[in-house]
Amino acid sequence: MGLQVCVLASGSSGNCIYVGNEDTRLLIDAGVSCKIICDRLAEIGVVPSSVQGVCITHEHTDHHAGLPVFYRKFGVPVFGNAGTVEVLGRSAKHSGIHWNIFTTGQPFRVGSLVVEPFLIPHDSFEPVAFTVRSGDIRIGVCTDLGVATDLVKARLRHCDLIVLETNHDEDLLLSSDRSWPLKQRIAGHKGHLSNRKAAALLSDVGCERLKAVFLAHVSQDCNRPQLAEDTVRTALSRVGLGHVDLHLTYPDRASALWQYPVVVESGKPPIAVDDLQVDKVLMDVGT
Ligand SMILES: [Zn+2]
Ligand SMILES: [Zn+2]
Repeated sequence: MGLQVCVLASGSSGNCIYVGNEDTRLLIDAGVSCKIICDRLAEIGVVPSSVQGVCITHEHTDHHAGLPVFYRKFGVPVFGNAGTVEVLGRSAKHSGIHWNIFTTGQPFRVGSLVVEPFLIPHDSFEPVAFTVRSGDIRIGVCTDLGVATDLVKARLRHCDLIVLETNHDEDLLLSSDRSWPLKQRIAGHKGHLSNRKAAALLSDVGCERLKAVFLAHVSQDCNRPQLAEDTVRTALSRVGLGHVDLHLTYPDRASALWQYPVVVESGKPPIAVDDLQVDKVLMDVGT
C-alpha cells in the first residue's frame, strides 16, 4: 500500500490537503473555494467526485470556506468532531451538511485509510490535528497550534511524513504593524507555531523514519519561506536528520506531490488515481 500527499493550498487565505492511496482519497480541510480544490486536484490527476471524505480540523474559516459548495456538488462524506460541528452548525452556510461525527482521540476509518484525530492547543472550540495510516505508512498533519504539547509530540513520532505549520518568524511578527493583541494571540499558547518552535518540535520527534516535511500555514506578512526552510533545515541537521526532504507550501498553488514508496514511471504518478474504482466508504464513526 502506498501513499500520496499534496498540500493543495496553505496559509491564512485557505488550507486544503490531499491524502490518498490506491483505493481511498481524502481531504483534510477545505478552506479554499470548490473551484480551486477541483483545479488543484485535477493537477494531480484526482477526480473530485472520487474523494471519499473531508476531515475538518477546526471552525476557522480558512479551513472550511469551500466545504459547503464542495459538499453540495459532490456529496462527499464530511467528518468533524462535536465541538467543531456545533459551531459550524450555527451558520446558515453549513445548513444541510450531514456530518459524520468523530470522537477526538479515537481513530476512525475512511476506506483503507485510518485517521486518528488528536487535540491541539489553538483558539477554537475543539481543534484537532490528524495522523493518517495507509498500511505501514504513517503521516501527521498538524497546522494551527500554539505550542507542541506532549500529546502532539507523541502523535507526531514515528511518522514517514509530517505536514507542520511554520507560521511566523518571531522577530518579523514583533516588528510587524499588527496590533499588540493580535501579536499576542498569534505568539500565544493557543496561536500558531513560529519557525523556531516548529524546528524544535521536528528535531524532537524526527527519527530515521521521517522522510519529508511540508512547511505549512506560512504567514505572508510575518515570515519568509526561505527563512522557515533555513530554520528547520539547520535544526534538523544539528540532530542528524539532514536526510529529511523539506517542501514548501503555497496559498496560490499546489505543493509538490509526495509519494511513498517512490516508483516513478516517467511523467506519470505511480498511483493512477483516475482509473481506480471508487470503493465504498467504510466508517467506524457515529453520524
Ligand atoms: Zn488556519
Ligand atoms: Zn485556526
